[in-house]
Amino acid sequence: MSRSVLVTGGNRGIGLAIAHAFAEAGDKVAITYRSGEPPEGFLAVKCDITDTEQVDQAYKEIEEKHGPVEVLVANAGITRDQLLMRMSEEDFTSVLDTNLTGAFRVAKRANRGMLRARRGRLIFVASAAGMVGQAGQANYAASKAGLIGFARSLARELGSRGITSNVIAPGTTATDMVSALTDEQVEAMVQHAPLKRMGRPEEIAAAVKFIASDEAAYITGAVIPVDGGVGMGH
Ligand code: NDP
Repeated sequence: MSRSVLVTGGNRGIGLAIAHAFAEAGDKVAITYRSGEPPEGFLAVKCDITDTEQVDQAYKEIEEKHGPVEVLVANAGITRDQLLMRMSEEDFTSVLDTNLTGAFRVAKRANRGMLRARRGRLIFVASAAGMVGQAGQANYAASKAGLIGFARSLARELGSRGITSNVIAPGTTATDMVSALTDEQVEAMVQHAPLKRMGRPEEIAAAVKFIASDEAAYITGAVIPVDGGVGMGH
């Protein structure tokens, strides 16, 4: 059955790979983008997830064209890396506002239709950094750890309504986000992973697709690492 899927930040990187995975399976896929030309093949809605009004408008457009969102992938995220002593309050709050409050905004809006349908899949893209921490990423890791508590609370709140809520926790993955790091930083992260390489966006997408599938209907409140082994045991 073709489902109405929304992937935030689906215009590039991991989000785009996720959007492709659902579209290839025959789902109706909407993606958000903020500027420039969005990729073709999806319903692209302009939306900054730090703005509740824009989130509501995006949902209205998707609901009109694809029906209520049945699978939400809250993927959009940013980094503002800095050591604590140099991290401004704005560095901290902007990352929290996008990565955590942004996920709250899109999940809250999705919940309306899911409750009515008595089914739905909430999927949050967190990070291995949220579990093991990362020097220079206190803001980012806090936002991603926050997503885990958020997702697990929703799992408890919404399970009786047939809605699952899960987290995918990628490790270092080859996207623009990593291009912003120095070669030395990337090499250190790669060496830290038992599998000694970066992840590919398609490998993250495969886990997201599984957790949204019928086969995963009995999985909720889970944190699924796709990280080359970096977060083992967490
Ligand atoms: P990219 O930097 O390549 O893409 C980030 C995406 O998020 C873009 O589509 C961007 O949109 C969107 N976005 C950022 N801020 C907002 C906002 N305020 N409103 C709407 N969209 C926004 O990152 P990745 O693809 O690598 O990351 C995707 C997710 O995976 C993120 O949550 C990230 O934290 C997580 N992750 C990534 C890892 C990695 O190593 N790459 C590791 C672990 C987790 P726009 O094009 O408009 O800027």
